[in-house]
Amino acid sequence: MNKNEIYEVLIEDISNDGEGIGHFEDKNGSGKIVVFVKDTAVGDYVKIKLIKCKKKYAFGKLIEIITPSLYRVAPVCEKAASCGGCAMMHMSYEKQLEYKFNKVKNCLSRIGGVKDVEKLMEPIYGMKEPYHYRNKMQFPVGLDKEGNVTIGFYAGRTHSIIDLKSCAIAHPVNDFIVKNLRQWLGKWQEKTGTFIYNETTNKGLVRHILTRVGFTTGELMVCIVINGKKYPDEACEKELIEAVEKSVNEYNNSKNKADLTISLESLCYNINTENTNKILGKKGGVTYKNGFISDYIGDVKFNISPMSFYQVNPAQTKVLYDKALEYAELSKDEVVWDMYCGIGTISLFLAKNAKKVYGVEIVPQAIEDAEVNAKINNIDNVEFICGKAEDVKIKEAADIVVVDPPRKGCDSTLLDTISNMNPKRLVYVSCDPATLARDVAYLRDKGFNVQKVSVVDQFGHSTHVETVVALHRTGM
Ligand code: SAH
Repeated sequence: MNKNEIYEVLIEDISNDGEGIGHFEDKNGSGKIVVFVKDTAVGDYVKIKLIKCKKKYAFGKLIEIITPSLYRVAPVCEKAASCGGCAMMHMSYEKQLEYKFNKVKNCLSRIGGVKDVEKLMEPIYGMKEPYHYRNKMQFPVGLDKEGNVTIGFYAGRTHSIIDLKSCAIAHPVNDFIVKNLRQWLGKWQEKTGTFIYNETTNKGLVRHILTRVGFTTGELMVCIVINGKKYPDEACEKELIEAVEKSVNEYNNSKNKADLTISLESLCYNINTENTNKILGKKGGVTYKNGFISDYIGDVKFNISPMSFYQVNPAQTKVLYDKALEYAELSKDEVVWDMYCGIGTISLFLAKNAKKVYGVEIVPQAIEDAEVNAKINNIDNVEFICGKAEDVKIKEAADIVVVDPPRKGCDSTLLDTISNMNPKRLVYVSCDPATLARDVAYLRDKGFNVQKVSVVDQFGHSTHVETVVALHRTGM
């Protein structure tokens, strides 16, 4: 096979990254070749052009859908195909859920070596309403070739910015914020010539706009990430506040009566002067009102600052944490260790049913938030420890351990420590089924076996999925 050759392919499956998988017979006699094609759905019969050829597989670009799959739908967002955010919006939501369930199942059986895994899995918990569910958005800011301001999302796997008018998964107040901040950015770019950040030169001031909405409180946070310490002058800052307040008013005037009223509670800045892909720098401050917003999960209240991790889909987070609580099987007598605790969300959610909960987290600001969160909820049987989970000194033996690591999964040192702690049960909350499965295999050698698995869709239209696994020490 050669680059630029054209083939017709039936899409039979979807890869872990969301690309369609098909086969074709190599015209040049190398036999059956596997091909990965973006933006296709299972059942599509498509014409493709080869863009990258390896020995046994290739990548193809979709040229034409000859016969569309029964599961294909028109994406709600016209930018879905180019934007890196919603790689699966062209598939029906039911089919997306099936894909996510199978992704977890395949990882746990193939990488994790879990036998008869489907028998341990509950039906997937999908969203009731898979649109406008995200409470957090991060919009990169740039200039296009003509010098116009672009705000939006990175195109898949690149850093070119897809300019955004309206996002189907964000809270709708974001559309107004993007519109009004585009004007503010344009005006000050014209005035100063260096207002908008340029990734290549590392010059210019404004890099990203980060927003968060408390879905139960209506509190809005806007945080501007800047490559510098301050805005050019006070007028610039004043106009920023006005632009955000205007966005809030416009949204509130346009929304349905029953929808939550939004109020601006926190307008912050974050300083990031490094030439890096990381969005946030280490320091920042408050431009207007508070440095945090509040939100509830169930009846637990949380204060959230710009740098703290907080689950992005509040409705499904409740489902996820309820599962973690169920799998922990607490009876108020247990000592629980919550590793990678963030702002203490799971710790505080479990505390009412435990004797004591210890939370461990690497980000100091998140630990500060966690301590405040314990206080505002009058929860006094929790203790938070700032540091690496893998380095933590175990103060008190654990009955139950909960882990909720980032995508790279748990450090093996931590898994050894957990094994030495000898808990009865381990609840593993994961945002990456592949690293979850790797860790499950490691834990099996230590006597921990999977009892139950539930898959919760937190990220409709993306390929990502959240999983909760209950492991019991049964093998030793
Ligand atoms: N359980 C929390 C946070 C989960 S996200 C919640 O549901 O909201 C994972 C968290 O792990 C992040 O807050 C991140 O800062 C933290 N983290 C990353 N590496 C870590 C490490 N080595 N030790 C402890 N925490 C870590």
